[in-house]
Amino acid sequence: MKQRIIVLIVLCFAVIILAVVAFRVSDRHQETEQIFAMDTYMELTVYGKGTKEALMEAKNEIRELEDMLSAVQDGSLICEINEKKEGTFPEKIAPLWEKSYEIYQKTEGSLDLTVYPVVKAWGFTSKKYRVPSEKELSECVALLGMNQVIYDSATKKITLPEGCELDFGAVAKGYTGDVLAQKMKDRGIKSALLYLGGNIQLIGGKPDGSPYKVGIKNPNGDTAPIGVLSVKDVAVVTSGGYERCFEQDGVTYHHIIDPHTGYPADNELSSVTIVAKEGVVADGYSTALYVYGLERSIAYWKEHSEEFEAVFVDRAGTVYVTAGLKDVFDTKENLVVIER
Ligand code: AMP
Ligand code: MG
Repeated sequence: MKQRIIVLIVLCFAVIILAVVAFRVSDRHQETEQIFAMDTYMELTVYGKGTKEALMEAKNEIRELEDMLSAVQDGSLICEINEKKEGTFPEKIAPLWEKSYEIYQKTEGSLDLTVYPVVKAWGFTSKKYRVPSEKELSECVALLGMNQVIYDSATKKITLPEGCELDFGAVAKGYTGDVLAQKMKDRGIKSALLYLGGNIQLIGGKPDGSPYKVGIKNPNGDTAPIGVLSVKDVAVVTSGGYERCFEQDGVTYHHIIDPHTGYPADNELSSVTIVAKEGVVADGYSTALYVYGLERSIAYWKEHSEEFEAVFVDRAGTVYVTAGLKDVFDTKENLVVIER
């Protein structure tokens, strides 16, 4: 009798251990998909149960958003709006316009989704790069301004003035990260690393509960990362002139435009990395603050530190990190901590 009880207890333990191991194994099950979309290479890594279905849905979402937001893909919603100067934003992308407009207003127009005529003039859309004349640029700049666009928040109807054209390139990938993360969370996914061409969206931490390590590229040329962030459940987005640029007569021109001048933003910054809960916030501010410059960006963060954290790298190689990141950012470079 006693022996039977012991066997029973041992069996029960074995079953429990097996169940725990099986649970852990399914938790760590990993699936990765690569996709080229939005003019960039993306890699989505998802852990846990239901990864195949989650990835399938994610790929469809990316294509659907690309079909709406691309300014260069014939027949996209934005191409149609740019052509007809009117249209209606579907529920899915209206929040993207609204959030971008908020950042436009808060950063004195540094993020401006009407920048498309200037981006085209420099050849960044066609990859036939050229330096436009000052006259051409000042004519383009006169067309800019999200405040010139009529948007009805009730009907989502949008009307553009003559000559105005939209470009969602500065925010599309960040917003896509938000949409994917939400869809995956709805499916019960608890861990994922979504790499969307330089934009990173995390769901939770690694399957073992530890933070993900996200390297920040050295914008001043070195191949080793300038630092590594240990973070969970956030978006990490970097803007830097090095991402797309061309050289003419010894001068380098890059793709992030100061909407007030029409020229590539030219200040002491080499890159801006934003860490935020939402990808759209991270993507919007990374572009806006790159244009804003270091001093104004620091002052802005001190006023709005609840919105995001940031890593700034200047041309001299000094790294500035906002207070909320100082314990999770590892670097060998000169580090300046920006306190609130
Ligand atoms: P990002 O890499 O997120 O900083 O976005 C850069 C892209 O956004 C460029 O390739 C342009 O298509 C567009 N863009 C450039 N300058 C601006 C700006 N100041 N505001 C909004 N979009 C911009
Ligand atoms: Mg951006």
